[in-house]
Amino acid sequence: MDQTANPRPTGLQAPAKPPLTVLLAGPRGFCAGVDRAIKIVELAIERYGTPVYVRHEIVHNRFVVEGLQAKGAVFVEELDEIPDDGQPVIFSAHGVPRSVPAAADARQMLYLDATCPLVSKVHREAERHFAGGSHILLIGHAGHPEVVGTMGQLPPGAVTLVEDAEQAATVQPPPGPLAYATQTTLSVDDTAEVLDVLRRRFPELSAPVKEDICYATTNRQAAVKAIAERCELIVVVGAANSSNSVRLREVAERAGCPRAVLVPRGRDFDPALADGLRTIGISAGASAPEVLVEEVVARLRERFDVTIEDVTVAEEKIIFNLPRPLRTPRTATVE
Ligand code: SF4
Repeated sequence: MDQTANPRPTGLQAPAKPPLTVLLAGPRGFCAGVDRAIKIVELAIERYGTPVYVRHEIVHNRFVVEGLQAKGAVFVEELDEIPDDGQPVIFSAHGVPRSVPAAADARQMLYLDATCPLVSKVHREAERHFAGGSHILLIGHAGHPEVVGTMGQLPPGAVTLVEDAEQAATVQPPPGPLAYATQTTLSVDDTAEVLDVLRRRFPELSAPVKEDICYATTNRQAAVKAIAERCELIVVVGAANSSNSVRLREVAERAGCPRAVLVPRGRDFDPALADGLRTIGISAGASAPEVLVEEVVARLRERFDVTIEDVTVAEEKIIFNLPRPLRTPRTATVE
């Protein structure tokens, strides 16, 4: 039989995938503090061998944590889980209370501090205001490791946590001068609202020299706002315990996107969520690597004819120095 005389009927061709425009919000994903923290763990493994202990998830992302575990990092929540084997411990990017390095010193542990320099800056500002006689109002979320770390820079009772505008309206700090500090990863708009309330009640409230909400948080929220009104759905790639990722999802909906979802990675994302939609957006929290964004895009391509549009609102060129022991020759002492 002459096959060429009987070409494949066009009716059997795969149906065309529906078109979908995907707006990629930029900046998104890794910030300089997260990048530095991960490098510290990797370089410490190279320098000191395994295991290298890490107190708390180095950054709030399971993919990152599991990747470092595979290289020999051992994650613990407290120092007393670490044996006296001479191997170093690294403090996570979120910062630690002063009691943690003190306990490490007491055990003569080798430690490296991966606290983001922008979190350390908040610590120093809070200390400066406290030394000047002020009580500190810390705007942030109870229990978040960064908040625990910042409160733990000062003696008990020196800091009062204010979580939202409602608490700002009722908080009763001790009499005397007041200053505020904030968690670095808050919603810019919510924090402005909390500060409005506090400033009305305490007009003499002192501010940090430079805004505490960091450049990465601010830029990622601005990028999500820039795409929100054009999107019928925004997918934020990030972990449920990542403060800045959770804020991005909230910002997306408040800025006019009817629906925003937080997904840890591509395999957890159901592309059918975009059925019937024409334009969706994607962003990623500061602790989510770009490969996880690519996974989500790949899931979408399985189902749609995807057109990507980059919407970038800011360029980021910040790089933070590594701790000195990882910059200098092997004989260096650990700070
Ligand atoms: S989100 Fe901001 S404060 Fe947190 S690690 Fe990144 S740069 Fe530092």
